[in-house]
Formats: sequence, C-alpha cells, structure tokens
Amino acid sequence: MTQESDSKAYAPSEETVARAHVNAAQYDEMYAASMQDPEGFWRQQAERIDWIKPFTQVKDVDFTLGNVSINWYADGTLNVAANCIDRHLDTRGDQTAIIWEPDSPDEAAQHISYKQLHTRVCRMANVLETMGVRKGDRVVIYLPMIPEAAYAMLACARIGAIHSIVFAGFSPDALAARVNGCDAKVLITADEAPRGGRKTPLKSNADAALLHTKDTVKCLVVKRTGGQTTWIDGRDYDYNEMALEADDYSKPAEMNAEDPLFILYTSGSTGQPKGVVHTTGGYLTYAAMTHEITFDYHDGDIYWCTADVGWVTGHSYIVYGPLANGATTLMFEGVPTYPDASRFWQVCDKHKVTQFYTAPTALRALMGQGNEWVEKCDLSSLRTLGTVGEPINPEAWNWYNDIVGKGKCPIVDTWWQTETGGHLMTPLPGAHATKPGAAMKPFFGVAPVVLDPQSGAEITGNGVEGVLCIKDSWPGQMRTVWGDHERFEKTYFSDYKGYYFTGDGCRRDEDGDYWITGRVDDVINVSGHRMGTAEVESALVAHAAVAEAAVVGYPHEIKGQGIYCYVTLMNDREPSDELVKELRTWVRTEIGPIASPDVIQWAPGLPKTRSGKIMRRILRKIAENDFGSLGDTSTLADPSVVDDLIANRADKG
Ligand code: ATP
Ligand code: MG
Repeated sequence: MTQESDSKAYAPSEETVARAHVNAAQYDEMYAASMQDPEGFWRQQAERIDWIKPFTQVKDVDFTLGNVSINWYADGTLNVAANCIDRHLDTRGDQTAIIWEPDSPDEAAQHISYKQLHTRVCRMANVLETMGVRKGDRVVIYLPMIPEAAYAMLACARIGAIHSIVFAGFSPDALAARVNGCDAKVLITADEAPRGGRKTPLKSNADAALLHTKDTVKCLVVKRTGGQTTWIDGRDYDYNEMALEADDYSKPAEMNAEDPLFILYTSGSTGQPKGVVHTTGGYLTYAAMTHEITFDYHDGDIYWCTADVGWVTGHSYIVYGPLANGATTLMFEGVPTYPDASRFWQVCDKHKVTQFYTAPTALRALMGQGNEWVEKCDLSSLRTLGTVGEPINPEAWNWYNDIVGKGKCPIVDTWWQTETGGHLMTPLPGAHATKPGAAMKPFFGVAPVVLDPQSGAEITGNGVEGVLCIKDSWPGQMRTVWGDHERFEKTYFSDYKGYYFTGDGCRRDEDGDYWITGRVDDVINVSGHRMGTAEVESALVAHAAVAEAAVVGYPHEIKGQGIYCYVTLMNDREPSDELVKELRTWVRTEIGPIASPDVIQWAPGLPKTRSGKIMRRILRKIAENDFGSLGDTSTLADPSVVDDLIANRADKG
C-alpha cells in the first residue's frame, strides 16, 4: 500500500533554507561524497572534535558473521568531557551550557555556564576517584533529570569510567539486574525523584537493589529533595558533602577512540533488553554532527530535547551532541501534563526555545487534551520541531505542524535506534520537503537498503517495501553487546548476511523517500497482502473518537493473519457496538477493504515501555490467547494494564 507517497509534501520556507547549514544542493553533493569516499568524508567530519593524538586510520569494519568488528579512528586519542566542556571555556565560558527546568514551575530554573559545568564535573570526577573508580570501571547512574545526571556522565567520561544509566522509573529488580550485568563499582543515585508532583524514593529503591548485588558496590547519593533516607556507613557516600571538599580540577584521561564510553540497555519493546556498547571517538563525532545538522542548530539557539537521559536520545541529544557543539541545552525534570497540559509550551516560552524535540506518545497525549493548552502560549521562538521513538501517525504530525509549529517550523522525523548512536534517517530542515510520517532521507554516510524479507535480495527502485538494512558502518554505530559479542552478531548480522539488520520494515515511495513501517514483526500478511500495523493504527487514530490504537496480527483460519485492534477512546466517548461498526467502516474507507479490522478490543490503557513505546509483542500474545509466555515485562510502565487486557480478551472468542 503506497497511498502515503501521494500525500502532501511541505517544502521549507525561503527563510529556513537561507539559514540552514545544509540546503538541498549541498545535501545532494555531501551525500554523494559520503558514499563515494567514506574515508575522506569521515576524516573531515572528525575535525569537529579535538583529538589529543590525531588518528591516521579512519575506518576498519567487517560485517561478516563470525568476524564482525567495527572500528573508527582507532589509533586516535581524545577525551569526551574535554570536548564537551574544556575546549569551550575560552570562547564561551560564561555562556549557559545547561538550562535546568525543575518538575514544579514554582521552583527556580537554573542556568549553568560552561565554566560552572567545568568545575562541577571536575569535582564529581574527583569524588568518583576518591571512591576508587578508575579508567574502564563501570558506574551505574540512577538519577532524576537533574544537572547532576549530566555531571555524572561527563565525570565518568573525564576519568575514563564507563557509565550505564538506568531510567529513574525502573524498579529495584531492573536496577539490580543492570548493576550486576555490567559489574558496576559504584551506583549513583539521589534521595528522591520529583516527577509530575509525585516523588519516587530513589535511594530506597537503590537500597533494595543493592541487596541483590555484590557487597562491594558503593552508593553515591545526591541530595535532590532532602527527603529522609536510610544510610549505611561505609557503603553510602554523600555527594554534596564530598563535592564541597573535592578539588575543582581533574585532568581529562587520554582515551582511545575505541574505548567504551557507555553501556545502555535498549527499551525492551521487542524482547530482553540488550546492553548496547558505544565507544568514544566515532560516537562523539556522529552525535555532534547530527545534532548540528538535523536540528539546524546555530550559536545562540536554545535547544530542548524532552527525553530522559535514561534513553539514548538523552545521551546523544541532551548531553553529548549539544555540549560537543557548545550549545545551550535544556534539561527538564518533569512531565508534559504537570501542573497542566500546557507545561511544555510554557517552558518553550519561558526559555525562548528554538529547537524542540519530543516523542509521538507525548504529542498524542497532548493532542487529546485540546488545542487551547497550546494556543494560549506564544511559541514564536520555535524554529525546528523534532520527533523520535515510534512511527508518528499523520494525525499527530499534522497537529504538531499546524498547532504547535503554526505551519512555519520544519518537522524532523528522526528515525534511529539505541544501536545507531545518532539519527540514521531524517529530513533536514533546509534541504528537504517533509511528508507527515516519513523519515524521508538517509543522513550522510548512511546507506539504507530495502531487502526482500524472504530471499534477502536487495530491492532496487522506488515504490518498494521490505526489510530495512544498512550496507556499511557509520561512526556512531554500536560496537558490541556488553559481555556478549555473539549475541551482537546474531541479532544484527545473521539474518541478512553482510548487512546491519535494523529490525524495522520500510518503504521507499515513488519519490525515493523513506517511510518506517514499524518493526518487521509488526508487518502482517492478510490474505497475501503485506501491511505495516502502523498504517492501520494511523487510520484508527484519525477517527475523532479514538485517542490511541495498537494493531497486531493474530492467526486467522481463512486469511492467514487477521487484524486485531486495541483501541483507547477519547475521554468523552463510550464504547458501543455501533462504534465498532463505525470504526470498521472508517478503516475500510481510509485504507481499503483488505485492512478491515477483524477484532476491536477497547483498551483503557496500552502496555508501554518506560520510554512510552507500545509493547506490541505483549499485545500479540494476548491476541493469540497465549498468556503464559508474555516474556520480559520488567520495562513496562504500568503492568496492571496487561491484566486488564487479558481479562477482557476472553469475550472476543
Ligand atoms: P528493543 O530493541 O529492546 O526491542 P527498542 O527497539 O524499542 O527496544 P530503541 O532503541 O529505544 O529500543 O528504539 C528503536 C526503535 O524505535 C527503532 O528500531 C524503530 O522501530 C523505532 N523508532 C525510533 N524512531 C522512529 C521514527 N522516527 N519513526 C519510526 N520508528 C522509530
Ligand atoms: Mg530495538
């Protein structure tokens, strides 16, 4: 089905084109150069970074199963923290590096200059060294979205320790598994994490987790609320006290380009989370370049990514990319709907945000609350809007474009993964027209290929659909799964030999633009017609009564696979048999008779990961009436949603 390829395209305004780092002609020229001479291209791009010892080799990559190895700039040395802080001190020491906006609008925001950032990161680095952390050691970070989270990341990078961040919403069990998984020496946490007006007792979660780890793990505690915590002398260390005494200079360690910078677990929407390993030189080059070009970041801009540092988006696009570029990056502790649904937009006005980057799940939630929350804000500072994490349905895209961006802000729909370190496909603000729901074009140096899922053969030409693979490496690519290189090879290099397999399906439309159709697992085959479940979801969400929808395939005697839809209604709508009929007819007219839903189940809530992604693998099991093997549910935001869906599955036959 290719009807989206005829959908409307929005060309960038003259003003956007004139300002942009990259216009259409430059994109074509640079992209061609990056394909013809990758070594030359990436040698030049690495000049964005300050190297201690310059590299001589650019790239040494093998995608052959059994022999996979990925190296960039391998004989160069550098320090990531020095790149993100020290090298800016002469030119922009007093410029704000981080704007911190707390959970409650009644608490004052903080502006942290590059000089202040330097002092604080050095102190944190010295505190970690006092606790015995050395180059190559692992440090788990379990913190709220407070500046100390960025200090902790950069302090690790400064001394060459490898950080692994665990989102503060995770349970003690999930935390313990990650501390043990990387054999961490230190766990950094805070007393409590305020979020949406509520407080998560982080330190007591950490206490519970540490019952299931080695006794030698030390705990560094940051004071956020001053709330009561239990204290174990000899194990627990008081960050605020130690930082006062710590020296305010720490020498950046000389790191090899291929030394690990961090380990981060994937969000777990398809299975057991994987400990993704990113290294130093290539990762930073790629994060810095994509941050500048995708968002068209210029000096003086105020850039805001609403993600949490617990996800890769927070790593690359709150901390490392922006700070490597000497940017001003906003860190937000709260949620979009607290104290009310206009918080995002009020923060944009308050700090005059120019680039705003969020997830479809947040946009859909806010869209459901009505336009007045947006319309009462000014938002005239906004220039570029971004989205990431899931396919964005055209309904939400149009709302973002019309209501938030007032039709004047290009939307960059950035497709990428924890594994890719940075954006792999996205329109660029001044170079490409945008289409609602399309990832459009590959980033420089990225060679996407569409493969036939059965034969693995490359499908050329336009107006085609299949499995999305990448032909060759880019500097931000993950290097291995922590402690399990075999799993790395098996997951990404065994299904389609010689390619990096993304796990996503994709379509290249008649214009040669790319659309992510969702996970390959989410492509269903109904009577011989293949379709992405995202397409049916988009149609459902376009109906005025529907707030959210998730669609999966299930075994169907006649059609092979049937279409099973979980539908969450708008607050003011009631489920009814008439509405079921109406939605069926609606989808038939929107897409075609082949996409007509077989089952519609009302879902008061959908199972989502902590990062807000719908866990379709669980919905698939429920649709298949297979409740015994739901797999790893530790990353679910609200496990009770699943029980409710199972309870209501029965009456669907
Ligand atoms: P796991 O790998 O553990 O199952 P996950 O894939 O959800 O978890 P992430 O790395 O957070 O972990 O997510 C990457 C995936 O998110 C991509 O493979 C893709 O399916 C989806 N995605 C991200 N951005 C976009 C986008 N702009 N459009 C469509 N899909 C996107
Ligand atoms: Mg994944």
